[in-house]
Amino acid sequence: MSDYHIYLDDSGTLKSGTFFDIEIPLNDSFVFNSTTEGWTFFSSRTPTEDELSIRNHHGQTRKQWFRGEITDEKFRANKRCQLDKNHVTEEYASYLKLKPEYDENTLYSEFNLVSSMHYQYPIVTESFKERIEKSGLKGTDFLPLTVDSHYREKYPDAPLLFAIQFMGKKCTRQLRIQGAKDECPFCGRQNLFCKECGFSNLQCPDCSNYVATSIDGHKGPNDKRLKFSPVTQRRFQIMEGHKWDGADFIYGGGFSSTYPNIVSKRALDWLLSVHAVHFCARPIQVCIDGMTDQQLEKLEYVQKPVVS
Ligand SMILES: [Zn+2]
Ligand SMILES: [Zn+2]
Repeated sequence: MSDYHIYLDDSGTLKSGTFFDIEIPLNDSFVFNSTTEGWTFFSSRTPTEDELSIRNHHGQTRKQWFRGEITDEKFRANKRCQLDKNHVTEEYASYLKLKPEYDENTLYSEFNLVSSMHYQYPIVTESFKERIEKSGLKGTDFLPLTVDSHYREKYPDAPLLFAIQFMGKKCTRQLRIQGAKDECPFCGRQNLFCKECGFSNLQCPDCSNYVATSIDGHKGPNDKRLKFSPVTQRRFQIMEGHKWDGADFIYGGGFSSTYPNIVSKRALDWLLSVHAVHFCARPIQVCIDGMTDQQLEKLEYVQKPVVS
């Protein structure tokens, strides 16, 4: 028995090579843990940030990759839990206001990243949106960014930009509990994680205490809180195949940078084939136990290249 209570269980029949975590890094030099956690950084984006700064240094035309900032955002909650209709299973943006930093020297990548105070949004061009809509890949939605009219008037040729949203139903394996009761250690409220959707009550809705902490943060026998496994124990997401809705673009954590969104093998191959750089991807596992024949058939299908 390990000395932690909350952990990611890796039991079951796991299959790799079908699904991948995906992240869009802020720039070429920021690669999200790429060397330590199995990430591969795909980039044929030229010029690189470094090349641009060297060119600028020599007095050549100033070019810059698109940058911007989200100054206002609104969200809408998806509630797809069958056990409790109050559980928010996914959260999507419904309104994003962009303060762009563009002019006639701006370069656009297929994937661009903008941030607000708390979140990061992958931004795509209209041409990318049209290509993906024709590809037959499933599970994307595109939210047009709202831009102040004076930016539009000043740079009428700037392309329309969209936030890409991963609409496939969240189906990653939820954390499990061992060596402790599945209840609040302070007041005994049942179910720290919803059995159906994994909705967490890590701050107890009844007594407001935080029910868990890291191993390092735990203060010993008199500390009632449960201990989380080390981050390395639960860094790779596992998909529950029997909960998969067949989408190629699957909700992982929305706009949080903690839990990446997920793409199928055929979506990853398609992104590479249309040179939709830059992004990072790494393989994750899917548990095939309990999948229906139809789901297993679809699982084969999403490994084959997109015919277009
Ligand atoms: Zn409690
Ligand atoms: Zn639930």
